[in-house]
Amino acid sequence: MPSTLLEKVWDAHRVRTLPNGHDQLFIGLHLVHEVTSPQAFDMLRARGWEVRYPQRTFATVDHIVPTADQRRPFGDAMAEQMMSALERNCREHGIPLFDMSTGKQGIVHVIGPELGLTQPGLTIACGDSHTSTHGAFGAVAFGIGTSQVRDVLASQCLAMASLKVRRIAVTGRLHHGVYAKDVILSIIRGLGVNGGVGYAYEYGGPVIDRMTMDERMTICNMSIEGGARAGYVNPDETTFKYLEGRPFAPHGDAFDRAKEWWRSIASDAGAAYDDEVRIEGDAIEPTVTWGINPGQSIGVGERIPSGQGEHAEALAFMGLSSGSPIAGTPIDVAFVGSCTNGRLSDLREAARVLRGRRVASRVRAIVVPGSQAVRIAAEQEGLDRLFRESGFEWRAAGCSMCLAMNPDRLNGREICASSSNRNFKGRQGSPTGRTLLMSPAMVAAAAVAGEVVDVRTLLADEEPVTA
Ligand code: SF4
Repeated sequence: MPSTLLEKVWDAHRVRTLPNGHDQLFIGLHLVHEVTSPQAFDMLRARGWEVRYPQRTFATVDHIVPTADQRRPFGDAMAEQMMSALERNCREHGIPLFDMSTGKQGIVHVIGPELGLTQPGLTIACGDSHTSTHGAFGAVAFGIGTSQVRDVLASQCLAMASLKVRRIAVTGRLHHGVYAKDVILSIIRGLGVNGGVGYAYEYGGPVIDRMTMDERMTICNMSIEGGARAGYVNPDETTFKYLEGRPFAPHGDAFDRAKEWWRSIASDAGAAYDDEVRIEGDAIEPTVTWGINPGQSIGVGERIPSGQGEHAEALAFMGLSSGSPIAGTPIDVAFVGSCTNGRLSDLREAARVLRGRRVASRVRAIVVPGSQAVRIAAEQEGLDRLFRESGFEWRAAGCSMCLAMNPDRLNGREICASSSNRNFKGRQGSPTGRTLLMSPAMVAAAAVAGEVVDVRTLLADEEPVTA
């Protein structure tokens, strides 16, 4: 019987079916960070339990790290406490910790792939919603809560209800200035923020096939924003090329053998899906959110739609009006970073827009690389200089203003053009702060213009680079 990747990986990891019908799945890789793990480790300690598979558990610090001054102890006592707790828990349980001293620290969903820990066919769990990112490699990856972090630490297993699979094919070709971020925002706009409930999303079609791994990660990252429990892309030569030579990927003959296995877990031709959707890549514009969830978005050339209920509430919060164009909306802050768009290719695209241009005088602009490795690679290319010369602040790696659990936050009703993944009320640190989600290139363009602007007007003379 032809099967989907989800079915194959699920079946290979099912330990048993529980009386409530959920499956207990073995978890191949558990990624841990400082925010959702302290209580889980405390629960283990209270019961006298050990971590079952420390060799399948890896930790980093990302959410709370300051990006301007990283000297210890951190200025924020709570952040210092979380950092110390993670250090102690990793030491006590023999878990590798990629902290700032290692050169491998960064956002958990950036460093997993970067280090080659994320591999096709794995089941992956992490106490963070955007764990779906790892599905870009053909892994089945779940964001989990603190009590599930405890369960995985203690047993390396996770109880999961079975999922349906929706195949989302992105056809045609993306226009110049249209990026993976625009694709996923368009998908969520079309299917709704709850459209994926009960599903895993399988992304495919010519646009996805042509995408780099960085772009596929951006797509899979935001699956959760569309309500899907996981999102994945079938592994292919692009995946294998990315993984070859990475520190934790198999090497030599083992890599060749792994490739055979990885190929075998891709969805079969003729596999049955619970739903299939086609998205026309040619129809996608640079996309911007106007509301308070990632489904409330429009193409940069469109006008804000009208609506009642939640729609009206969103407009009131944002201080925007139906019928107005989103282009021209003034911004106060520009943020390039996050696990959605904080990779080297994202920084390159933003820098390309900034070359020879200056950030508008009233805009505060910061760029936060997704990892120390991204920061170092960007500096080797001179991107840091370009960002600084244009008026951006060049920061150290972390989640930063995506969630604002560190000092990088909005003040009052500031509006932020952000390359992150959530525009919920208060997400960027101020209860009244407002977030407009967009691609890194669009953030750079908004920073220069001081308002939302179509990045294509600034890229007019350049060759297309995206899928
Ligand atoms: S960058 Fe944002 S979404 Fe990603 S792990 Fe950090 S806080 Fe979560």
